[in-house]
Amino acid sequence: MNYHSMSADELRATQDDLQKLYEGLLSAGLKLDLTRGKPAPEQLDLSNELLSLPGLGDYRDASGTDCRNYGGVSGLPELRAIFAELLAVDADNLIAFGNASLDLMHQVVVSSLLKGTPDSPASWSSTGETVKFLCPSPGYDRHFAITEHYGIEMIPVPMLPNGPDVDVCAQLVADDPSIKGLWAVPTYSNPTGATYSEDVARALMAMPAAPDFRVFWDNAYAVHTLVDAPPTPLPIVDIAAQEGHPNRVYVFGSTSKITFAGAGVAFFGSSAANVKWLTDNLAFTTIGPDKINQLRHLRFFGDADGVRAHMAKHREILAPKFRLVLEILQDRLSDSKVAAWSEPEGGYFISLDVLDGAAMRTIELAKEAGIALTAAGSTYPYKHDPYDRNIRLAPTFPSTDDLRVAMDGVATCALLAATEKLLA
Ligand code: PLP
Repeated sequence: MNYHSMSADELRATQDDLQKLYEGLLSAGLKLDLTRGKPAPEQLDLSNELLSLPGLGDYRDASGTDCRNYGGVSGLPELRAIFAELLAVDADNLIAFGNASLDLMHQVVVSSLLKGTPDSPASWSSTGETVKFLCPSPGYDRHFAITEHYGIEMIPVPMLPNGPDVDVCAQLVADDPSIKGLWAVPTYSNPTGATYSEDVARALMAMPAAPDFRVFWDNAYAVHTLVDAPPTPLPIVDIAAQEGHPNRVYVFGSTSKITFAGAGVAFFGSSAANVKWLTDNLAFTTIGPDKINQLRHLRFFGDADGVRAHMAKHREILAPKFRLVLEILQDRLSDSKVAAWSEPEGGYFISLDVLDGAAMRTIELAKEAGIALTAAGSTYPYKHDPYDRNIRLAPTFPSTDDLRVAMDGVATCALLAATEKLLA
């Protein structure tokens, strides 16, 4: 029944029932974790062949490069070609680097702060002005963590079903040249699952802004679909050039959630000028990336279709988990009208909005019952959710049985917290 149309007495009676359910949860001694978007062990098993690749005696790529040795800061061309197709970036303008795209994002931010970009009159940190980033929210906590760590001021902008509110973005960047970046997760975004439309992408590339304003296009979930017809990746580097700002966008991606989360390969793509700028900077951090790991990935995938076929196996494992979470949310929460959630077609998360002002309490109740949820506010800059309503659910890692128990518990906590709020 709709909680908003209940009388106080009805709400109290509902709360009593929920309290009993909650006490049952407390006494169950649960220890369940829905916090981080990690692949489940069965997903990691899909890539176990990597553990014996490239194999004894196989250490040269097609061009004859000895992958055991130093060098080749841009990475193996054949592997770059595969991911160029999947990320819709020209292979010449895509590099394959270390094991984590976050590392590359961090490098880009730090290099910009200390050295400036090819379009910066001076390094970002030397202007005396506070550097600012636009942060479509809810968004990815580790993006926000990088910018917060370096004292970059984060300005939340609303995340809509087709990407950030571009009118708000355009207005902000037009008025303030100290806004230097925007964090974007264009496909199956973390946490809402939204995919940017071409119109939004074009508007972000076209809008007047500082010459060194950059969109950090983190396409972490480019191939992580749960449906038959995934979105076609937007050739965003080309779009940026067409819209008159060839250096505006940095594309990031990785195989972290394709093969091994801790031992994958990360990618960076952009204009030729930006790729040169980043590789010149990276050359100070390493004489070359782990090319053996790149060769191993190349042998494992073969080509872009090999990646797609591999992702279909992930989908078989993940789709039932996402379905289960959505079924429980529907069963337990839909009548109450005190929650709304995303129904993503890919990616790693479901975004749950509970009653305004009840997220922190929901998470606290769940914690006491042994169900760990991502900390309240995590999906907003400075961990401050102005509505105190968003909770990021990560259904991938737990087993189906654990997920069922955990989600049922979360639903109880969300309802109980809602009754507390409504009766306050
Ligand atoms: N980008 C997004 C949007 C993510 O959700 C994640 C992981 O959850 C990452 C990047 C991490 O990528 P990597 O392992 O390549 O650093």
